[in-house]
Amino acid sequence: MSDGTKIDAPKPLKKRIKKYRKLSKLLSKKTIGSKRYEKARLRIAKFHAKLKDIRTDFLHKLSTQIIRENQTIILEDLNVSGMVKNRKLSRAISDLGWRQFRTLLEGKAEKYSREFRVIDRWLATSQICSNCGFKGGKLDLSIREWECLNCGRRHDRDHNAAINVLVAGGQSETLNGRGGKQKTTAKVAAACEASTRRGATAR
Ligand SMILES: [Zn+2]
Repeated sequence: MSDGTKIDAPKPLKKRIKKYRKLSKLLSKKTIGSKRYEKARLRIAKFHAKLKDIRTDFLHKLSTQIIRENQTIILEDLNVSGMVKNRKLSRAISDLGWRQFRTLLEGKAEKYSREFRVIDRWLATSQICSNCGFKGGKLDLSIREWECLNCGRRHDRDHNAAINVLVAGGQSETLNGRGGKQKTTAKVAAACEASTRRGATAR
């Protein structure tokens, strides 16, 4: 989040991947339609229901907390379906339930009269330095920290991106209040505008 908070989300499938593989193997050995097959299928269904409960419970609590503590919530559209096609990310993202998280936030924002905004997914929030506006190259996902080649500021990848999301979403006063620079804000906002315009034309 833009205030630097990091959320440690549960990854219920990752934690139980051995069990999942065991259950899948068990199912694959049964004859389709047999009683044993049906029993194994049911065990997998229950397993998935449990994972879903863990995720949903966590996402409900987190979204309620975020809505309670903030008047405006700005989320970056991370193109979840596109990312899920990337096999490396697929399981990790599905395990977190990002899509459900957005739906919950959106619904609660409406219920509690909070402003909810989503910024364009094509804005390179991870590549722009939130301190000076310099746009570096694309960072491999494994790189969690980087240093701006222009101003030398050291960034946590996610925190820097979150600040850019905040600026792009029009909450630049907040950024300035936290020690950001007006010049930076204008630059990032301009980059966002251009990107949004491109997006609008493409659609
Ligand atoms: Zn910089």
